[in-house]
Amino acid sequence: MKRVAIILFTTLSSFMILQTSKVDVSPDNKYTRLDSLRGSITPERAWWDLTYYHLDISVDPATKTIQGTNRVDYKVLTENQVIQIDLQAPLTLNRATQNGQKLEFTNEGPAHFIVLKDKQEIGSVNSLMLSYGGKPVEAVRAPWDGGISWAKDSNGNDFVGSSCQGLGASVWWPCKDHMYDEVDSMLMSITVPDHLMDISNGRLRGVDDNKDGTKTYHWFVNNPINNYGVNINIGDYVHFGEVYEGENGPLDMDYYVLRENLKKAKKHFKLAPKTMEAFEYWFGPYPFYEDGFKLVEAPYLGMEHQSSVTYGNDYQYGYKGTDLSGTGWGLKWDYIITHETGHEWFANNITYKDMADMWVHEGFTCYSEGLYTEYFFGKEAGAEYIRGQRAGIKNVIPMIGDYEVNSEEHGNVYSKGANVLHTIRQAINDDDKWRGILRGLNETFYHQTVTTQQIEEYISEKAGRNFQYVFDQYLRNSSLPVFEYVFRDGKMAYRWSGVVEGFDLPLKVYMNGKEQWLETKTNWQFMDADEDTTIEVDRNFYVTVLNVMGS
Ligand SMILES: [Zn+2]
Repeated sequence: MKRVAIILFTTLSSFMILQTSKVDVSPDNKYTRLDSLRGSITPERAWWDLTYYHLDISVDPATKTIQGTNRVDYKVLTENQVIQIDLQAPLTLNRATQNGQKLEFTNEGPAHFIVLKDKQEIGSVNSLMLSYGGKPVEAVRAPWDGGISWAKDSNGNDFVGSSCQGLGASVWWPCKDHMYDEVDSMLMSITVPDHLMDISNGRLRGVDDNKDGTKTYHWFVNNPINNYGVNINIGDYVHFGEVYEGENGPLDMDYYVLRENLKKAKKHFKLAPKTMEAFEYWFGPYPFYEDGFKLVEAPYLGMEHQSSVTYGNDYQYGYKGTDLSGTGWGLKWDYIITHETGHEWFANNITYKDMADMWVHEGFTCYSEGLYTEYFFGKEAGAEYIRGQRAGIKNVIPMIGDYEVNSEEHGNVYSKGANVLHTIRQAINDDDKWRGILRGLNETFYHQTVTTQQIEEYISEKAGRNFQYVFDQYLRNSSLPVFEYVFRDGKMAYRWSGVVEGFDLPLKVYMNGKEQWLETKTNWQFMDADEDTTIEVDRNFYVTVLNVMGS
């Protein structure tokens, strides 16, 4: 989802009694210790591997409260007796137990350090029960800020949704709130007023009528899932669905929309199987067949919640009826259906370990919008859409942010990320190979958390060309490569400037209208050419062009 907010934890709610985490504070004071506790793999996180969550909560829209438990199962990797569990105020962790024994804990902001009594034997799988409750942070401008959105539908029914990308799932439930470690499977038991439904991730196992004015919906996710992908959606939903014949066989596609929007949705959501078709073509099989695919109406714009993509684009084409590319192609489809579904491959299947690498989610997914356009409207339409995204790129800060502090400061990871991928595709100049790389990424890193280096190395390896300097320039520096050229003495001299040493992107140009590839480097290259030769750089390359004649 599109995000602009920079999140700061501002409350340090208590002093630590235990001397626990040994996380350093950054020397320039740009980040706090709380940023490090949130964004790094602390010693109290590193020693255990998440295996299972059972989140069992009651959500009361009348009082805007959540009460309940989360069971956390984990495998012991190395010796330690202190475990870090994150939960953000004003929610409170009321009790932590293991094997029936009550455990002591302290907290530093959202990071709770629980002292385990039983010896944590390496290789064993242990279980921790956490009771919590209170009024979670309310999302004011979801999904930009995050938290719980408490809204009403037009009939006056409660309409509730969670969103927490960046901010973290610990804003509404206690968990290991770091992206590197995904739980293997998860059961969500969500109790809501009995005239409403809860729609969460994965498949509905059953519904209990508690005979007390509430019902409990049990949803099971049979695949690894990242924290911010977990969600609740509560409302007066109606359901319809279809079976899509996909690459891996029949895929259940289910739609949950507000009663008042059923007619509109039945027409509009015909876009969903088309989206699935385009993305299976480009990226390979939908990564969560076991869990099905859902579009769920939400009281905010939308989010890539795994196997339950949330939708709030008002059944309009474009981005709330506008085209972010300015080319018109973005009005041929629904931005939220396309973009958030694209995230099933890049964000949910392949997930960044650290938010510094957010371009892996948003760059590829913004690029997927162009691929969707290409699939249905042709190659030039897709390219035009991607090029149209350039208008908003500032090239002021690098796309890769600061590591281990959960920083949301990135330079245009959406539109610039898409244009970098588009540029690399030009350099590879082999559409079958490029599609093979996109599909190969999803196969090789299936259900994994990754670093940007893994993605970069994979692309270079499969392309048969080292793009390391290209990635360094576009991801780790802010300025665009400058293609400089000059005609003099019957020759054209050309080079890259303003780039990292070694930058060697080949460039397609048209000289007197004739296609020509230039192996361009940072030192001057020469070729025979008259001074009246016209040269035009292929506009699919996202570079700056400078005729240095006369300088
Ligand atoms: Zn997104």
